[in-house]
Amino acid sequence: MEGPGLQTPPDDAAAARYSFLFPIGYSNSSECGYCRRTRSGFSYYAIATSLTPAFYQKLVDRCWRRSGTLLYRPNQRHSCCPHYTLRLDSTQFRPTKDQRQAVNRFNHHILGDTYAREAARLHPRTRAEARRRHNVFDLLERVHESEAGVLKGPPPAPDHAFTVTLEPDTFTEEKYAIFENYQRLVHREPPDKISRHGFKRFLCNSPLERGSLAGPDGRERRLGSFHQCYRIDGQLVAIGVLDLLPDCVSAVYFLYHESIHWLNPGKLGALREIALAREEGYRWWYPGYYVHNCAKMRYKIEYKPQYVLDPEDLNWYLLDKEALALFDKGHYVCLSRKGVTEGATAPESTSHPPSPEAPLSTPPQHSSNSDDEDQDEEEDEETSFLLTSSMPGIPTLAEMEALDMDGLVLRSDFAEGFVLASHLVVWESESVGQVGTLKSRVAELIAAVGPDLMGEVCIDFRKRVGA
Ligand SMILES: [Zn+2]
Repeated sequence: MEGPGLQTPPDDAAAARYSFLFPIGYSNSSECGYCRRTRSGFSYYAIATSLTPAFYQKLVDRCWRRSGTLLYRPNQRHSCCPHYTLRLDSTQFRPTKDQRQAVNRFNHHILGDTYAREAARLHPRTRAEARRRHNVFDLLERVHESEAGVLKGPPPAPDHAFTVTLEPDTFTEEKYAIFENYQRLVHREPPDKISRHGFKRFLCNSPLERGSLAGPDGRERRLGSFHQCYRIDGQLVAIGVLDLLPDCVSAVYFLYHESIHWLNPGKLGALREIALAREEGYRWWYPGYYVHNCAKMRYKIEYKPQYVLDPEDLNWYLLDKEALALFDKGHYVCLSRKGVTEGATAPESTSHPPSPEAPLSTPPQHSSNSDDEDQDEEEDEETSFLLTSSMPGIPTLAEMEALDMDGLVLRSDFAEGFVLASHLVVWESESVGQVGTLKSRVAELIAAVGPDLMGEVCIDFRKRVGA
């Protein structure tokens, strides 16, 4: 791959290999989605206009996540609720009794007694099969067991017809009806805060490019953002919003109609996604950030074995008893050093229900005249400049000053095609340490994604439609 160091800008045909990012900067969230504190969590933010799945995979493996087109990497050191990236190895997954029961209960609800009785009569299990079924819970077999299409004929028909389809993440009124119901009745959001615009913005039309990849076993894996749609008797009842990346099924959000709440849809969805990771060869399932001090997040670590991404060395560590003890002990945890920072800023418990996931946590206000209460009008440079923020896993200011970024590729409304950073008039005169300059902003973005990925990024300064 070409990258820094090239003399002439790449031609338009090269566009497909870049991910297009607009740097927003390092700032304080206006409100924490978990403890509802204001201005208590720092992250680096960027807007993605287009992302290749391979590039986004690398970002999620460096603590990034996305909420619609907004990408962010939290500073675990400066946060009321430090966010850690988790992943589960689907090939090693062993469901708990509770998880197994949820699947069995659901299958029984769909198939019904009559079907079960007749199926047992028409397709009796051998003694060995019955014993195996009693002793072994085959996740892939069980999650598909009640699906129309895999049922063995002849009739009787089951009580309900259940289907699951992986669909593009486009907006439909059918999907919006589920979102509206879920946000209002399950998530208890005020109705005036729920809109088609919000649904589209957070959960539809992601910047991830859709594609496919042949795995080492020759199987084609789908890549991109999808809605996994669950229907009972033709009615949409639940949606899993998924990012399918080269090495993972990344769970973005899960929403369902309150009428099926009693069936434990969240659990069923998670198991289904783990099964997808296993059967299609993605291997890893990413359940989203883990926030240790948030009780509502604990369900994520009931799926085991789970690994946590260390924000400093960016390696994965088994989230076992020993690791959890570190999280109990401190506020900021670094597993590679087994280091803990005592929690002076750990939030008190609150009666507010925490937002379930990132899409609904409040992104920062970017306009200078936002209607935030001005608690701290001026953040000093120390806290609003990524390169002096002591954010884990980020190069230092000195390292960024020493980095050759001349070959970086940019796009703007003032030029046709790609432009090299070194061709910009201001590039020579500005320095990385001059906070607020173009060069400094670009350096922050490159530091946040990692200098080794510079050749995969196009800094996109074009005016965004709807921005
Ligand atoms: Zn918080």
